[in-house]
Amino acid sequence: MSTYITTGVVLRARSHKQNDRLYTVFTERRGKLELVATGSRKILSKLAPHLVMFGEVELVVAPGKRHDKLAGAVLKKIYLKPPYNLNTAILGTSFLEITDVLTSTGAPEPQLLKSLKYYLSQLKDLPTLEEDWRQRARTFLGRFIYKVLKVTGLAIQVTRCQKCQGELAAPVVFSFTEHGFFHRRCVSDNHNIHLLIDDSISYLQTLASRAEPAPGRELPQELLGFLVDYVQGQAGRSLYTLKVLRSIL
Ligand SMILES: [Zn+2]
Repeated sequence: MSTYITTGVVLRARSHKQNDRLYTVFTERRGKLELVATGSRKILSKLAPHLVMFGEVELVVAPGKRHDKLAGAVLKKIYLKPPYNLNTAILGTSFLEITDVLTSTGAPEPQLLKSLKYYLSQLKDLPTLEEDWRQRARTFLGRFIYKVLKVTGLAIQVTRCQKCQGELAAPVVFSFTEHGFFHRRCVSDNHNIHLLIDDSISYLQTLASRAEPAPGRELPQELLGFLVDYVQGQAGRSLYTLKVLRSIL
């Protein structure tokens, strides 16, 4: 493989070995990539200003043994610029973190990249009034999670009970044990379940039918709690940003 150029959104950056930086970038051509920026401080200091938080970057990548190497980077766009509203920055970071934990490296996910860019682009227009911010942010986060789950194939059937195939009607639970929605009466007591309110089920069904929930119809708080649990279950760990957001949304 020879050097190639692609654009992507930086999901994560961290120190690597003594002098290197490791960047996780969600790219157009190759999906999620772990790219190492190695070498002298001079090279790093040239690259680093382009690899910023919430940035979309054009990258020159040179294939390497363990990690591909970052040979060049040009910042194309910043979705959210400092000074940040702290909560909005946490929300944006959660989009990046969710994308990171629910995708694997090396497979292009054009639909997911498109969604990620869309949700990042909405951050700067969130309302400033706290109560309005909270409602919008909750809806964005819930809908983003739903979208990621759908695109990555983790989405679940939300119209019929997985046991009796009957139409879902309250009380409805999600079983983490069997990974699906059931009538409450159709699961036994030893299941690890989440009980969903009617409003959450109907919101999920609206999303699943690909209809847009009516403007102004905000995502139920309880549904966000469920989606967050679901993501963390898939990730196998709790995510710091989601923990914070759950306490404020
Ligand atoms: Zn049933």
